[in-house]
Amino acid sequence: MKKQQIAIVGAGPAGLAAALYLHRAGHEVKLLERFAAPSPVGSGLILQPTGLTVLDDLGLFDRIASLGSRIDRLYGADALSGRAVLDVRYSALKGGRYGIAVHRAALFELLYQAVLQERIDIETNVNAISMQAGNGRAWLMTDTGRSIGTFDLVIDASGSRSRLKRFAIHPCEPAPLAYGAFWTSLKWHGQGFDERSLLQRYRKAGVMIGVLPIGRTDPAGDPMAAFFWSTKPDEADALRAAGIESWKDRVFSLWPECSVYTDQIGGFDDMTLARYGHHTLAMPVGRRLAVIGDAAHSTSPQLGQGANMALLDARALAHALTTSMELDAALSAYAASRRAHVRGFQALSRAFTPFYQSDSTVLPFARDWVVPTVARVPPAPQLLASMVSGTLIDPFRPIGLREKAWI
Ligand SMILES: Cc1cc2nc3c(=O)[nH]c(=O)nc-3n(C[C@H](O)[C@H](O)[C@H](O)COP(=O)(O)OP(=O)(O)OC[C@H]3O[C@@H](n4cnc5c(N)ncnc54)[C@H](O)[C@@H]3O)c2cc1C
Repeated sequence: MKKQQIAIVGAGPAGLAAALYLHRAGHEVKLLERFAAPSPVGSGLILQPTGLTVLDDLGLFDRIASLGSRIDRLYGADALSGRAVLDVRYSALKGGRYGIAVHRAALFELLYQAVLQERIDIETNVNAISMQAGNGRAWLMTDTGRSIGTFDLVIDASGSRSRLKRFAIHPCEPAPLAYGAFWTSLKWHGQGFDERSLLQRYRKAGVMIGVLPIGRTDPAGDPMAAFFWSTKPDEADALRAAGIESWKDRVFSLWPECSVYTDQIGGFDDMTLARYGHHTLAMPVGRRLAVIGDAAHSTSPQLGQGANMALLDARALAHALTTSMELDAALSAYAASRRAHVRGFQALSRAFTPFYQSDSTVLPFARDWVVPTVARVPPAPQLLASMVSGTLIDPFRPIGLREKAWI
């Protein structure tokens, strides 16, 4: 396809990766971000073999591997009995796969610095809230009434609260989930924790505490951990009113080793309350519009796929633009290439989340007593490992990507 003029709205993982791919493919890219200085939101996340393959394809794997913390296992136990409830090892699958947990700032800086180095045009302080398309062009409108463009294509990478996704075919909005979580990044302490595992403790599905080693934000920095406590956003005020010491006592009663982390927290303001929602666009495209990342599909982070799917979307769109003769065909090809993977993982996330975050008593009972037994019998360990890896449904072939060689 001839060189296209492309606006990308949002400098998160999806927008930054798309900017790199499309600029390298020879398109004229303009990246628009609402914040004055682009910056990452939140604490840590796990880059799965899917997202790592995309970063490898972009030539950024070695740098993220040098900052993040390699993850081989996801382990969760009942807080009172100590009984193992979840035990997924990437090694259950052949091929040497693993995850890398990172601070969001590390992933952001990696992509952002690459965008700066390649002199991709970025404009900040732009809150793009609407778009129009006509006469073969598209343009954006900001909250201040400014019109930006025109462009051949607008890419909406502005996250789950995107205002542009309403221009997709069959738009929809995220339905809020009952549970969210307090998240924070703290200094890593190894005593009682494994630096190659995501560790969690549960009490029914109403309590979930997690510790994830996330490495460093810069090579000389101290190693860090992401610490999270599942809560209903509606109940956060009551939690705050009861006071930080009361909450720390609760954490201590459930997982005493965590005091090395809670001791680092001075008050609730040291943590971010994340709210989760769930939506999947039936067609992540519209007239001169492609929707990628959380703007196209948001969910709870229970399966840890969101940022990875955002990176896959960016690669898929670039691949579709490279292999199609004209724009409408490319948009259809992009939507088709991601359909099975996105819908499959969104469905899995919707199904699994209530086992870990809900008021149900039946689901956590099944999780604690049935799943651990079944999960040990082949092929369950392999299926669980490929679910966590993001490869249960092949995401690579439809987007012209070959999985990274792990060994
Ligand atoms: C607490 C938590 C834990 C998570 N853990 C994991 C995990 O372990 N693994 C994983 O893969 N995923 C995880 N996720 C999900 C992951 O963070 C998201 O899927 C990922 O950040 C999506 O990337 P994105 O680029 O699509 O959107 P975002 O990261 O939301 O970026 C959107 C960007 O667009 C900008 N923007 C928004 N509106 C506008 C506008 N109107 N105009 C211009 N710019 C705009 C924003 O400022 C932002 O920079 C987690 C999410 C949360 C909340």
